[in-house]
Amino acid sequence: MSKTIAIIGAGQMGSGIAQTIAQNGMDVLLADVSLELAEQAVGKIDKAFGKLVGRGKIEIAEADAAMKRITPVGDYNPMGEAEFIIEAATEKEEIKKAIFEKAGEKLGADAIMASNTSSIPITRMANYAPDPARFIGLHFFNPVPVMGLIEVIPGLATSETTTARTRAFAEALGKEVVLSQDEPGFVVNRILLPMINEAVFVLGQSTADIEDIDKGCRLGLNHPMGPLQLADFVGLDTCLDILMVLYKTTRDTKYRPAPLLVKYVEAGWLGRKTARGFYDYSGEEPVPTR
Ligand code: NAD
Repeated sequence: MSKTIAIIGAGQMGSGIAQTIAQNGMDVLLADVSLELAEQAVGKIDKAFGKLVGRGKIEIAEADAAMKRITPVGDYNPMGEAEFIIEAATEKEEIKKAIFEKAGEKLGADAIMASNTSSIPITRMANYAPDPARFIGLHFFNPVPVMGLIEVIPGLATSETTTARTRAFAEALGKEVVLSQDEPGFVVNRILLPMINEAVFVLGQSTADIEDIDKGCRLGLNHPMGPLQLADFVGLDTCLDILMVLYKTTRDTKYRPAPLLVKYVEAGWLGRKTARGFYDYSGEEPVPTR
């Protein structure tokens, strides 16, 4: 019998995680705030598979088999049979807390509850779960099917068995693992978010325009993508949420969000997911917006 993995939160990350897990032969239960949203997400995953088949990256039979392994669900009842429940909902602690408490009622006796949080302390959130020893951070990167890394973050109370099982699960998805202690931003976001934030300050101070800031980092630093385009990929609301967590937990003003980032989020320009962020994504190619 194949493993069942439950995912709560079917946005960019939850959908990508579901796609990757299903492609690796495991069954997925996918939930969001409603069954309709979970079903919509499954529709998007189907389209993503369609594109991969169209580009000759995978066989149609492989895509069909993976799609059959993904079941959208409207409540947490079926999650009792899952080996892992992975939370990938909006980066707000009160939302995640409610999920851990409610889904925790269904968590199997030997199952692990994991959070894909980018920045909220794992040790603190473990208290919202039924067993802090079986609670861990499992931080995927976007887009999940493409990116080769997963950060595994044990909290203070996480057992060694939980860490070992989580690492083995991440590796079974074909990813490399980086183990991080539970410190704000873990490893990668602690380094990335100050860079993205600084790029928005540079833009806000009119030092250079969007294209030149991104070109500067692509060609000057040999990054595959500039920081403003990457921010659009991550989601500007998520970038702001992460910076606020870093700022509040460390009380270090180097993490204060750039005012222009706050403005974009207030305008509802959240990046690729709303078709507009620093770039406009409504056409074939992204176009800088200023
Ligand atoms: P997103 O906005 O695309 O998706 C969030 C999803 O959570 C939405 O579908 C929303 O409806 C759902 N949601 C909200 N409240 C919920 C609830 N109570 N129950 C179930 N679902 C709920 O955001 P995202 O980019 O997918 O980020 C999700 C998580 O992954 C965040 O914690 C984020 O920090 C983390 N993360 C994001 C990235 C990234 O690059 N975007 C990378 C790694 C980790």
